[in-house]
Amino acid sequence: MRKKIIAGNWKMNTSLQEGKELVNSIAEMIKSKPLKTMPGNPEVILFPPFVHITEILKITKKEKGVTVGAQNCHQSDKGAYTGEVSAMMIKSVGATHVLVGHSERRQYFKEDDNTLAAKVSQALDNKLTPVFCCGESLEERQSEKHFEVVKQQISKSLFWLDVNDFANIIIAYEPVWAIGTGETASPGQAQEMHSFIRNCISEKYGSEAASNTTILYGGSCNAKNAKDLFKNEDVDGGLIGGASLKAGDFFQIINSY
Ligand code: PEP
Repeated sequence: MRKKIIAGNWKMNTSLQEGKELVNSIAEMIKSKPLKTMPGNPEVILFPPFVHITEILKITKKEKGVTVGAQNCHQSDKGAYTGEVSAMMIKSVGATHVLVGHSERRQYFKEDDNTLAAKVSQALDNKLTPVFCCGESLEERQSEKHFEVVKQQISKSLFWLDVNDFANIIIAYEPVWAIGTGETASPGQAQEMHSFIRNCISEKYGSEAASNTTILYGGSCNAKNAKDLFKNEDVDGGLIGGASLKAGDFFQIINSY
């Protein structure tokens, strides 16, 4: 059965001290209201910057249902790639998840579908769960190409996997025009795309695999709009950027099922 997940993508924000304070505050709130007592029994995944992962894990390992991932991994297993971080390294410090294909990586670091397929492969080989991000630009939505674009992204980077490996994938639909802009997809737009993605998965891997895949929404999701987004049948949770940097807001989003 698919899970309800709230993931926080901190991007390139917070000093180590600020990051620890943020997680300590979230942990305190979760102590006062444990995840298992919340509707949907949500899981929480935090994606701090690489250099904070080990210290953040020291705090979260006491919190059941809270795990930590990396925001990126390299597409090769090791070698002369100065400044890069491999999936094996991420796994070795105790993280469990990795973001792949965030639109900022696609845009600023020119990561294409093939590179992202290789990153997914590295993640799975190292027993990390990829949270694969997909989503259309404003121009693509305005020219009504959004379904085609998203289908292409998931087909090229994911649909080469066999059904057993695909079972380890989490998808995050993040329309580029909604990321960090304050403009959110309407609940109807989110549901329409999530249901489309689930249908694509069903065509490729069958209805059971489709029904078991967790599909998160991301793009200016916040404490005010989370409830309306999450009540849609095919929206299993959120990948939260800006609002994950405020403990109170993030906790409210976790509590929005
Ligand atoms: C993100 O970075 O994945 C994201 C959804 O950002 P924001 O919530 O700030 O739009």
